[in-house]
Amino acid sequence: MSNCIFCKIVNGEIAAQKVFEDKDMVVFHDINPAAEVHVLVVPKKHIESLSTLTDKDNDLIAKLTQNLTKVATMLGLETGFKTLINTGEGGGQLVPHLHYHILGGKLTKLQALKNT
Ligand code: AMP
Repeated sequence: MSNCIFCKIVNGEIAAQKVFEDKDMVVFHDINPAAEVHVLVVPKKHIESLSTLTDKDNDLIAKLTQNLTKVATMLGLETGFKTLINTGEGGGQLVPHLHYHILGGKLTKLQALKNT
């Protein structure tokens, strides 16, 4: 999608600190991290959110999900990690291109949220 910020990262129009990329997905550091390690796992295909998934996306979503542990381990999160998907305005989704957040290590904002 032409005005989607994550599509622009996918096609190289906007720079990002990428840690992994293959034909279906790209993983990059969140620009405003909420934890010591905070990356976004983004399908290259523009899918707006979980709410707009179709059966055609099943294989892609399975692949992304299966790769979360591999990505987290690569980033030093062998003992575990948090995964978050925000969906829609009510779910706090700011970027309308489906993405998984992987968070781990020392938590900053997330921990603060938990304590309020
Ligand atoms: P969400 O609320 O789930 O849509 O989260 C969107 C996330 O994308 C936020 O955590 C932002 O900090 C992050 N973000 C927005 N723009 C960029 C960017 N250009 N590079 C990296 N992360 C970004």
